[in-house]
Amino acid sequence: MEGIRDPREQLLDLEPYDAKGVAADVMLSSNEHPFNVPAEIIARLSDRLESFDFNRYPDPTARKLRELIAQANGLDATEVLVGNGGDELIFNILLAWGGLGRKLLDLPPTFAMYGIDAHVTGTEVVQIPRKDDFFVDGDAVLERLGQGDIDIVMISHPNNPTGSLTPETLLIDILNATDALVLVDEAYFEFSRHTMRPHMQRHPNLVILRTFSKAFSLAGLRVGYLLGHEDVIREIMKVRQPYSVSAFSQWVAATVFRERVVFQQGIRELIRNRDRLLHGLSNMRGIEVFPSEGNFVLFRVEHASALWRDLLHSHSVLIRDFGRAPGLEDCLRVTVGSEAECSKFLEAMSDVLSARRESRIMTGAAARATDERA
Ligand code: PMP
Repeated sequence: MEGIRDPREQLLDLEPYDAKGVAADVMLSSNEHPFNVPAEIIARLSDRLESFDFNRYPDPTARKLRELIAQANGLDATEVLVGNGGDELIFNILLAWGGLGRKLLDLPPTFAMYGIDAHVTGTEVVQIPRKDDFFVDGDAVLERLGQGDIDIVMISHPNNPTGSLTPETLLIDILNATDALVLVDEAYFEFSRHTMRPHMQRHPNLVILRTFSKAFSLAGLRVGYLLGHEDVIREIMKVRQPYSVSAFSQWVAATVFRERVVFQQGIRELIRNRDRLLHGLSNMRGIEVFPSEGNFVLFRVEHASALWRDLLHSHSVLIRDFGRAPGLEDCLRVTVGSEAECSKFLEAMSDVLSARRESRIMTGAAARATDERA
């Protein structure tokens, strides 16, 4: 027989995720850490590499890593779940709490994977757009939750790509208003330094997501974790792939976690660089900058996609273009890099913007000259 029958209907209008793997000298598009894991940690890992049992399956419960994370957060290991990056855990939450006939409350513009994973798992997406300043529309959210039919709420805190935290009082109001599973996605927690962890005891429906990809330089390894009530963690364990977090990843992440004080200096440096970017961009004419608590800064500029191209082609600086995302028209997001990378980005920005102004003046002068001749 020839041909292939169609896949599930939900896939027909989806495009495979494209992380836009364009190469550039200054890579500021994916909210990664600018520096690799510190050399002292790599040296320690190398020493023990020869005796690493690559031939064995990993511990499906990532026991050692879970215990370390639990201890640091004043929890029991049964209240922690490790995944193949935060991405896998978001997908698992939708497998466990979403699905056909169930609903996700999404607050766009926000992290796109919430909506994509909902779509793939057949979960209906109910959207309440953020306000013009990108803050959550609290009244609308509480009113919608009051209808009682929402199964999951996902809140990026701080919100990627817009940068702001949701006020803690509103998060508590949301938790009080619903028995839906509320994911507070703290992927950028180490930069915002705000967590909902103190509210876990009182709210068994609260789950918190964290990752090793940002502050701990391990984006390439794929390790994230959830903090949640043990009943919630047990349900999510039913849908997860048992060996999704490799033995190597568990080992490296546990080593990094034990040594996490070493990363504090880098985190402080990135926070300083973030302030430099916010300040530098807000001093540029024609740029609207949004405050950020993450390791990235969102800004709006006329003809953003053209500016994105100029930064890449004339200065080899790669940032993220959100210009086509609903609610983010003419918005670009730059990741906070090293001091040198931030300087290169800011210099490239002022070059591109002054070239724009000059070409406008020239066009204006040429038009006036034509008018005068006419
Ligand atoms: N949540 C948010 C808000 C993110 O921005 C990201 C990464 N872009 C993730 C979760 C997932 O991160 P990872 O899979 O690398 O742990």
